[in-house]
Amino acid sequence: MSSPCKRYNCTQCCMETEMPLSNDDVKRIEKLGFDRNHFVINNDGWLQLRNLNERCVFNDGKKCTIYDSRPEGCKFYPVIYDESEKCATLDEDCPHRDEFKISDADLEALASLVAKLNSERKQRK
Ligand code: SF4
Repeated sequence: MSSPCKRYNCTQCCMETEMPLSNDDVKRIEKLGFDRNHFVINNDGWLQLRNLNERCVFNDGKKCTIYDSRPEGCKFYPVIYDESEKCATLDEDCPHRDEFKISDADLEALASLVAKLNSERKQRK
């Protein structure tokens, strides 16, 4: 069965994104030929996807144009990590979150991604 994103032709999570980027995400996207200034903003040490016209710079109005190389956080979404509770949860902003499941593998991989993002931010500050 296709993902809810495809089934509903949804790109809601590309709107006004605050998706964090790891150094690996930035390098992978740069290899596609994009200058980092085109798609990265630095928000108090966090690297995040840039918005253009209130949506992710890589969303062309219909879809993600770098889908196969999209940031790790985009691959997990709507599963997000709640640092205070140390658990994975489904983001309330996703209109179809009830159709997603959180696996143990998601929890482990997300915790590791969050640790990496925190460590990279510390090195930037
Ligand atoms: S994750 Fe949720 S908000 Fe994002 S495209 Fe899929 S259904 Fe839409």
